Order: sequence, then structure tokens, then C-alpha cells
Amino acid sequence: MSENYATVNPCSMCMPMGSVMVFKGIEDCMPIFHGSQGCSTYMRLHLAHHFREPVDIASSALSEKGAVYGGAANLKKGLLNVIQGYGPRAVGVATTCLAETIGDDVAQIVKEFQQEEPRAREVAIIPTSTPSYSGSHEEGYNEALKAVVRTLAKRGKPNSRFNLVIGSIISPAEVRHLKSMLDDWGCGYDRIIFPDISETFDAPLAADYPKIPEGGTPLADIEDMANSKETVTVGGSIFGGSAGEYLEREFGVHHTILPIPIGVEQTDRFVGKLEEITGLGLPEKYERDRGRLLDAIVDCHKLVAGVRTAVYGDAEMALGVAKLLCEMGMDPRVIATGSKSPEFVRRGEKMARGSEVLSGVDFSDIHEAVARNDIELLIGPFTGRQISKAENIPILRVGLPNHDRFGASRQMVLGYEGTTGLVDRIANAIVETNELSH
Ligand code: SF4
Repeated sequence: MSENYATVNPCSMCMPMGSVMVFKGIEDCMPIFHGSQGCSTYMRLHLAHHFREPVDIASSALSEKGAVYGGAANLKKGLLNVIQGYGPRAVGVATTCLAETIGDDVAQIVKEFQQEEPRAREVAIIPTSTPSYSGSHEEGYNEALKAVVRTLAKRGKPNSRFNLVIGSIISPAEVRHLKSMLDDWGCGYDRIIFPDISETFDAPLAADYPKIPEGGTPLADIEDMANSKETVTVGGSIFGGSAGEYLEREFGVHHTILPIPIGVEQTDRFVGKLEEITGLGLPEKYERDRGRLLDAIVDCHKLVAGVRTAVYGDAEMALGVAKLLCEMGMDPRVIATGSKSPEFVRRGEKMARGSEVLSGVDFSDIHEAVARNDIELLIGPFTGRQISKAENIPILRVGLPNHDRFGASRQMVLGYEGTTGLVDRIANAIVETNELSH
């Protein structure tokens, strides 16, 4: 990898964008960025193109004056506008590079605002620190998860529920799948899923466009997460520090963190945890799905064996897909993420010995690694398409962002069923490439 002093085509997105994925997974919550207007415009477009849904993000619209004298007045005005215009029950305030560089104390500004403005006292306002120079969108997502439980979770009467924290960004369809799995397990009423983007980023067509999309984790449930008997976090183990850890430390809620359930082994681990929590065995339907996944892997194993693949994108997603490739007998020769994480490298190298595992890289680094390793297939977000074109290698679009194809909201690579679909897509991509080259 060459020493770069500038990022060329980043393999990650801005930190506050990750916070939006959390705030939009809370019922009646509206996000606002404290910073210049362009940050919110850029991230609204990114998310709207990916999910093909309207995405509103307010902005405190800092200008030169705010940058010189401080942005408190702008943020207070912006918060008031959001409360008057949208009538939210919660507002997530994410900082951007400019607000952090000038040193605005957002938590203090929010406190003052709630003292000065009676209408704001009824609204939960969640300050989150997310300057893009200190992390990626995934780290912003993780920061926002922590900020939400820090602000909202409250000690109360212990309950017999468990928290399922979605610790990495997955699709609305994948959240729906996890919810149905828990319902089929008979624990539909016993779980709190946070955040829940299953409806907010994939709403049915409606005549009226609601100002805040329906759905999301109820605020009362988030408050009650402090009183649950257990927290299971899927994903997010790469960055250190998590909402589940906070709940364990502050409220004694036992916490387990697992990788996202992609592939056989990682899904087995998730299922094993659910069996332990519920005291019930895997429902028959999923037992059969597991069998079908193994069958799909066996069906295509001769075709896919040893195919040199580069997997890139969000850290947990890239590791999950790489793990599946190992289970399929493929060769995940390059595993890369734009987020900086020694833990990513450690886990990737342990899982796929001899592979190049790269963290904190951009697409120019990934391109060099792809060329060096004579890669035959790319798996990751659409942002790798320039490498695909330049090297004439097929690309299978998985993860965020995906702007040039439809159905990102319905992506399903989780669980036995979702993984089976991914196995089929991988095999078909290789079949199509072989057909073209003959
Ligand atoms: S890099 Fe910073 S200033 Fe630029 S769009 Fe992202 S958050 Fe905003």
C-alpha cells in the first residue's frame, strides 16, 4: 500500500451519516446536523439514492459568522424550527467537522435551549459527537447508539425482556427478518429491537407523505432497555465501546456481542444465543432454512472453489461476507474497509490466512490490492464499480451505498435464508462471467 497524504475515492462515508441511521430507527425522531448546510444536503442525497425514500435531515446552517462567534444561536434556532415544523418527540443532534473544529459544546447548548424554551422540555434531545475527521459513518452509527442509550435509558422496574441492538448497519428487510425470526420463536413481546429502520427507510407507497416516517423503536422501549434482563448486540464489535457495554456498566444488564449473522457459523452463533435466552430450540422452519443453505453451498462448491475475491465496504459486513466465502471454499484474497480498525485486521487475518486485510484504506489502495492479487470477483458497495470497469471484473453489490441498482432496502444477506440468496448470487455472478469469457 502506498503512503497517501490524501484520500482518493473514500471507502467510507461521513461520520454524521451513520448517526442518521440510528435516529431514523427511533419512533418520532428527527435528526439535525450542527454544521454547514452542505453536510446535510450531501448525506440526505446519499441516503435517498440508496433507500429511494425521502430523507429529511435538518441543519443549523452555520455560516462564516457562526464559525467565528460560535454556533449556539444557529443551533437553538434550528432546534426550535424542527420542533415547530415537525413536532418530533425526539431530536438527534449530530455534530459535523465545522462545529467540532470551532469547539461548540453541543451538550451545554442543548441544556440551555431546554431551559429557555418550554416547548423543548417535552422533547428528548440527543447530542452526539460525530466529526468526520475522527471516524467513518460506521463509527458515527456506533457513537449515536451509545448517545441514545446514555440520554434515554432510565432505571425502573426490572422486566423480563431482552434488548437486541443492531450494532452495524443492515437493511430494513434484514431488520424485518430478525423481527419475524424472534416472533416465530415466540418472543415477539419480550424483545426490544434498537434501532428499528424496518419501516422508516422502506415505507409502503402512501397518498400523504408523513413529515416523520412511521415506525422505529418506541422511546418508552429505549428508556426501558436499562431494565431488561439481557442485551445481545449483533455487529459493531470492531470499534470498541458499545451501547450494550454502557447498559451493562451503568445498569448491570448482561451483554453479549456477536458478529452479524451472515454465513453458517455466524448465524449458528446468533441462533445459539437465542436458544439460550428463550430456552427453546430453533423453530423447524429455520432448521430447514439452514439445511437449504448447506445444500446451496454444496450445489455450487465446484464452480466457486478457490475463486479469488475482494470483499470491501462496512467492516462487519465485509468480515461476514469473507467468512461466508471461506465456508464456500472461495478465496477472499483481499478484505478491506475504509474505517480504521486494528481489530478488523486481526479478525480478518485469523479468518482468512494469507489474505490481504486492509483497514482505513481508500479505493486507490483497494484497486492496487485487487490488481496485485489477480482478483476475479468484487463484492461490496457500488462505489467499487470504477475498479470493476478498469479491471473488467464483475461486481456483486452488497451493502451501503448502492445508488445504481434498485432494491437496496430489500437487500437480504442475513440469517440462513438471506445467506442462501447471497450464495446463489455469488455462484450466478461466476457463471455469467464464465459464459462471457467463452
Ligand atoms: S467531511 Fe465533515 S464537513 Fe464535509 S460533509 Fe462530511 S461532515 Fe460535513
